[in-house]
Amino acid sequence: MADKVEITWHGHACFTLDFGKKVLIDPFIDGNPKAKIKKEDVKTDLVVVTHGHSDHLGDAVEIARNNKAPIVTFVELGWMLGAENGDLDIRAINYSGSTVVDGITVTAVHALHSSSVDGKYAGNPAGMVISDGITVYHAGDTGVFGDMSIISDLYHPDISLLPIGGFYTMSPYEATYAVGLLKSPYIIPMHYNTFDLIKVDAQKFKKETEEKHQVNVIVPEVEEVVKIDRQELGKR
Ligand code: ZN
Repeated sequence: MADKVEITWHGHACFTLDFGKKVLIDPFIDGNPKAKIKKEDVKTDLVVVTHGHSDHLGDAVEIARNNKAPIVTFVELGWMLGAENGDLDIRAINYSGSTVVDGITVTAVHALHSSSVDGKYAGNPAGMVISDGITVYHAGDTGVFGDMSIISDLYHPDISLLPIGGFYTMSPYEATYAVGLLKSPYIIPMHYNTFDLIKVDAQKFKKETEEKHQVNVIVPEVEEVVKIDRQELGKR
């Protein structure tokens, strides 16, 4: 069980969670105007993909192959990737389904969005709950939905990574409401300011959300490492 998690935002919805073993989520690096790393340099033990849109699936296949890392994703997208990449270990889970990789449990949860690859329907989208004692909820792309309270009740996410950019996902207005449903002590916004279409003021979101709810909203710079340890979370 991890004593701490180090969270690095690579821009957009892409994060590395380092529990000792590393989890890379939604690796949109090539073509991401905010990315500062190169896909060739990424080191990870696991790749998680929430849905098929190119700004989430991104470089997942290449990075998984380079690192000999499994990919955990939603079932239809997993089957699509598996059909073309027979050499990869792809865990294609469905809602409430989990898989364990290197002691890290990944569970697929609802996301209110869509999913396709190059315009081809790719099943449902997902959020992912990723836990090694400390639990992180990556919401994927989503609108707000009431069953976020079920995610709170069942998985108690310590840290929630929430899209706030609007247009394709929640804007700050809905995301602040979502924070009330999720009850995570730590919130990190994502999926904003990558393009003009999803430009928002994250500091304003932080201020308004912290005023409304008893939470810490952390707004990292790209490649800044956020460390959260078990003691801070009050866990033993
Ligand atoms: Zn999307």
